[in-house]
Amino acid sequence: FSEFSDILGDFFGFGDVFGAGSQQRRTRTQRGADLRYDLTISFEEAAFGVKTRIKIPGTEVCSACGGSGAKPGTHPTSCKGCGGRGAIRHQQGFFTLTRTCPTCSGAGKVLADPCKKCHGEGHVRVEKTLGVNIPAGVDSESRLRISGEGEAGSHGGPAGDLYVFLHVQEHPLFGREGNDLLCTVPINFAQAGLGAQIEVPTLDGNETLSIPEGTQSGHRFRIRGKGIPQINGHGRGDLYVTVKVVTPTHLTKEQRRLLEEFAALDNTGNHPTARKLSEKVKDLFS
Ligand SMILES: [Zn+2]
Ligand SMILES: [Zn+2]
Repeated sequence: FSEFSDILGDFFGFGDVFGAGSQQRRTRTQRGADLRYDLTISFEEAAFGVKTRIKIPGTEVCSACGGSGAKPGTHPTSCKGCGGRGAIRHQQGFFTLTRTCPTCSGAGKVLADPCKKCHGEGHVRVEKTLGVNIPAGVDSESRLRISGEGEAGSHGGPAGDLYVFLHVQEHPLFGREGNDLLCTVPINFAQAGLGAQIEVPTLDGNETLSIPEGTQSGHRFRIRGKGIPQINGHGRGDLYVTVKVVTPTHLTKEQRRLLEEFAALDNTGNHPTARKLSEKVKDLFS
């Protein structure tokens, strides 16, 4: 498995990368092109990291000609146009001008009889399997660079780099904000009013959360250290659990009777928002 040599929070290298490539095009050695690979991983894989294998287009030395590009049994011959130098010089006034030899495109050698397998390229395209380590804590914004795994360079130039663009799938229960996890858990109004111990999901299994009495719908509880691990670091984010008080439906006769009894004893003093509202209404008409 190869390690990513770089983790880029933001991908801003396009201009540099392609600019450098085009400037080198006229020279004999040419850096290989960078490759982009889009990889979709699960929410849990992003949180805890994953070792995976990806298939990328690659090149390998042609087995028929051994990389020379010449038909087996023959050899590339020195270019007659430039005498094998790859460039042609000529005098113009005081100046000596040099230009790339058009016959051999600067290679200095020509193939009288190109290899049939690689069409004179000296290498063939193959599918390459690459093992990659995705560190814990990556997100959909993460771009990973594996240096030297892009396209092969030509005439001895270095290979380009492989950029892995990560796409993280959604989770059915959890949302994510940076390294924090968010989830919503329903409770009934008895639990909200009386307080309760409830089971809440985390990425590491269920946890018990204490709901104090008088908890309002929409209240957010924090469970420390149950979020996403810091990328290339220590510690984890937090899990925020929002409770949602669910109104009961399809009451039985007994439940209805008890609820009506409760309603008869109820007063707005029990409800912080209702109390505030009734005070405001009183102020309005006094
Ligand atoms: Zn060949
Ligand atoms: Zn030439």
